[in-house]
Amino acid sequence: MPAELIDGKAIAEEIQEEIASEVETRLAEGKSQPGLATVLVGEDPASHTYVRMKRRSCEEVGIQSFHHELPADTPQEEIIGLIEELNTDDRVHGILVQLPLPEGIDEELVLRVVDVEKDVDGFHPMNLGRLAQKGRDPYFVPCTPAGVIELLKRAGAELSGARAVILGRSNIVGMPVSLLLVKENSTITICHSRTQDLPSLAREADVLIAAIGRPEMVKGDWIKPGAYVIDVGVNRVDDPSRKKGYRLTGDVDFDQAKEVAGAITPVPGGVGPMTITMLLRNTLTAARRRDNK
Ligand code: NAP
Repeated sequence: MPAELIDGKAIAEEIQEEIASEVETRLAEGKSQPGLATVLVGEDPASHTYVRMKRRSCEEVGIQSFHHELPADTPQEEIIGLIEELNTDDRVHGILVQLPLPEGIDEELVLRVVDVEKDVDGFHPMNLGRLAQKGRDPYFVPCTPAGVIELLKRAGAELSGARAVILGRSNIVGMPVSLLLVKENSTITICHSRTQDLPSLAREADVLIAAIGRPEMVKGDWIKPGAYVIDVGVNRVDDPSRKKGYRLTGDVDFDQAKEVAGAITPVPGGVGPMTITMLLRNTLTAARRRDNK
């Protein structure tokens, strides 16, 4: 395999150790323990798993977690009331509302209630707006996009002046990754479901980010030799040979791509572990900022 494997799991562990050590120093200096509140509404099994993983990671690095679990039929005003309480709770530095919220709840409205200085997910429109503006920085960068940039930098990618092609334009991945790459002085092309001739555009990329949610759509001949390829996709595909009956795969055909790319992330074990790590880092940043107030 000519491509270097970008090991997200190992990089995430390294960063988590740095976070744990800073939390320990904070406590020794008598500063506050960083705290993350998680708000989980409804019974979606995947959301329960994600929140459990986030809380476990908090515990591992010494971040206090405050968990709130509400039934699926909780009225919107009650969810908003809880967030308003968390906004004023000094033990809470970051608030995470697990998405998706149950049908009938106005997600946009609920997310707007989160105090922008506690928006560790970085989804508040003000954070995304600041990300888009020259000369401004968001309070928090959304976690998955922040993880993508961190992986590229730690893998040694030269982003300034690079041609970056981003497949996907969602609010949570494609668009913020694109804005971050502009801040890194890359020249970007954002692709989506109406883009014509994706393979030719992808082949121009020194840095190719795939975030479309289409299993193994990006083939080896879409990739410029030596390119950095970051596969954000997480897709379940049927696989009767596995105990669970499925396996996880990315948006990139890894076996083909690894023969052409210069460096590539695997799925699982690439971007995924970085997402939670960036959430921990944002929570620590929030606590650090409060010290200075
Ligand atoms: P999303 O909201 O569904 O957005 C998908 C984007 O891909 C849209 O912009 C869509 O275009 C575009 N797209 C879909 N099919 C396409 C096609 N055939 N050709 C070109 N563009 C196409 O998805 P998302 O939330 O951004 O997530 C993307 C993937 O990343 C998913 O597999 C998700 O599970 C994964 N993910 C992973 C993590 C992690 O931590 N590892 C975190 C978040 C998401 P339009 O805008 O035109 O519809």
